[in-house]
Amino acid sequence: MGDTIFGKIIRREIPADIVYENDDVLAFRDLNPQAPVHVLFIPKHAMATLNDAIPSDATLLGNLLLAAADYAKREGFAEQGYRTVINCNEHGGQTVFHLHVHLLAGRSMHWPPG
Ligand code: 5GP
Repeated sequence: MGDTIFGKIIRREIPADIVYENDDVLAFRDLNPQAPVHVLFIPKHAMATLNDAIPSDATLLGNLLLAAADYAKREGFAEQGYRTVINCNEHGGQTVFHLHVHLLAGRSMHWPPG
């Protein structure tokens, strides 16, 4: 895949408000937050979209969700609740082609989304 703005954040070439990091995952606040808490969880070894995932990526995909849940617990909003979202390609509304999980919290959210 080509490099993206998120690759530059991983390499610390551009600034980001990084809130969580482990060996596989980096998380930082979204530049254009859609909720009081809006954090993006990305794999350090990038894939462009969820369509590119293969069975050997199962652990990595799980680690992204576990990191988001861990962050929610540590920040104290897990019980109240939150939303995780992966946008894929045009109809999913994806704009940055480095797989990421949005974690949104701090307000009530509705379903279905618009
Ligand atoms: P997507 O639409 O691909 O699911 O989500 C991409 C997200 O990345 C958007 O919510 C957008 O606000 C965020 N974003 C785009 N560029 C940057 C950036 O340079 N820094 C940060 N922190 N977020 C960004």
